[in-house]
Amino acid sequence: MILLILGCAIYLLLIFFVLVFLIYSLFEKEWRAFLRSGLILLILTGIYSVLFAFFPEVKTWFFAGVFVISVVVILWIAVSSKPQDIMKITGEQKKVDERDTIFARFDLEVKSEKYKKYYSTHKEYITIDEEIRKLNDILDFYFIKKNPVLFSLADAEFNFCEQQLLGVDGNEAAIRFERSAEENTRILKNIIDYLGSDLCGVCKLDQAYVYSHVGRGPEPYGSIIECRHEYAIVFALEMRADMIDCAPQAPVIVESAKQYVEVAKISIIVSGLIRRLGYSARAHISESNYQVMATPLAWKAGLGEVGRMGILITKKYGPRIRLGVITTDLPLIPDEPVVFGVQDFCKKCRKCAENCPSKAIPSGEKLEENGVLKWVIKREECYRYWRQVGTDCARCIRVCPYSKPNNLLHNIIRNLISGSFAAQTISVKGDDFFYGRYPKKKQISPLGLCR
Ligand code: SF4
Ligand code: SF4
Repeated sequence: MILLILGCAIYLLLIFFVLVFLIYSLFEKEWRAFLRSGLILLILTGIYSVLFAFFPEVKTWFFAGVFVISVVVILWIAVSSKPQDIMKITGEQKKVDERDTIFARFDLEVKSEKYKKYYSTHKEYITIDEEIRKLNDILDFYFIKKNPVLFSLADAEFNFCEQQLLGVDGNEAAIRFERSAEENTRILKNIIDYLGSDLCGVCKLDQAYVYSHVGRGPEPYGSIIECRHEYAIVFALEMRADMIDCAPQAPVIVESAKQYVEVAKISIIVSGLIRRLGYSARAHISESNYQVMATPLAWKAGLGEVGRMGILITKKYGPRIRLGVITTDLPLIPDEPVVFGVQDFCKKCRKCAENCPSKAIPSGEKLEENGVLKWVIKREECYRYWRQVGTDCARCIRVCPYSKPNNLLHNIIRNLISGSFAAQTISVKGDDFFYGRYPKKKQISPLGLCR
């Protein structure tokens, strides 16, 4: 009798969970998940009704079975080991020259002196870069003609960022307002949160993550970068899931650009505030103004882990974020890197690699690159695809299970997979079953325009 009651209670809980999942799927417009959970709900309630109506003698055995299976699954999740793999620094990390980054290379005016000098010493990039140059540039008129409103909106947003490039730095005030590092950290994190950031952390500014030479922006090309600040404040802004759901169409670049505008606003205001308090500070913003590498600093500052797709994965929003960085001498308390199972989950998942239209994301093992063991992305192939579609693609971000909306249902799953290998295995299978191994893009963006 006790087994019947317990099994029945677990079964009803399961029905309740599927019902909640169905409702969430409806609000998230995840139609495949909605239909599949609806079907499961029908089957579960059908079995329950038929057993009680027609087979009362079988129901004891059935619910006893449900109880035993549930106990086995719960024990499997509870006792399976905790994911422990971490990001590993395996050797010396050399500074990266910003001139070697994709955007700096493609900023070079063809046949100019700078162009000739660069490619004469970097012959390894000539063939692939020339092939990519034959494609239309992101946001050029070829794409604007196809979608005048959304591509022009993204262009205007990036243009706004460009206009801020000279406002990132300045002299600090002569009078210094001194507080403890603890107080400075608490106050600044509160202010950054107030200005609209979703996550914020602090780390020591590791010189390995400061570019060696200027490759873009208003400062002289090729000049040595001297960013000697002691700390980096790194923050993240969530990109809207319903915009990213349209990847790789125009709404994704509108959303990326919008968040870069917000990042520029917050970092310029906060660096200005710090300078007014008497300390040196510099904002690092999009559209060619970075002196530092945002992703490894965000990892060091405890905002997330770097996943298979090569960008930061946060616990709350997955890779669906944009990063901002302020470097400063203001005394602060650094945070520690966090581990919540991303390295192990990515080994099982591989969804971004299989969905990447340019096959830029590896589906195999990590490799060592510049002293770090990581999944190495084929950056040129990714960028080539951007120029084919005229946006920053984001299909990998769209399909990543960690990108699901930040709500109670998905947060329960995020917490389970951070603590159990078994939960990770079930979650990978469940994500494929409910959302599809190759999720379709959504056609209409919240702005009412997609193509
Ligand atoms: S942005 Fe697109 S092309 Fe680039 S890695 Fe992601 S899915 Fe592949
Ligand atoms: S899609 Fe899967 S493999 Fe790719 S980054 Fe996200 S969790 Fe990792």
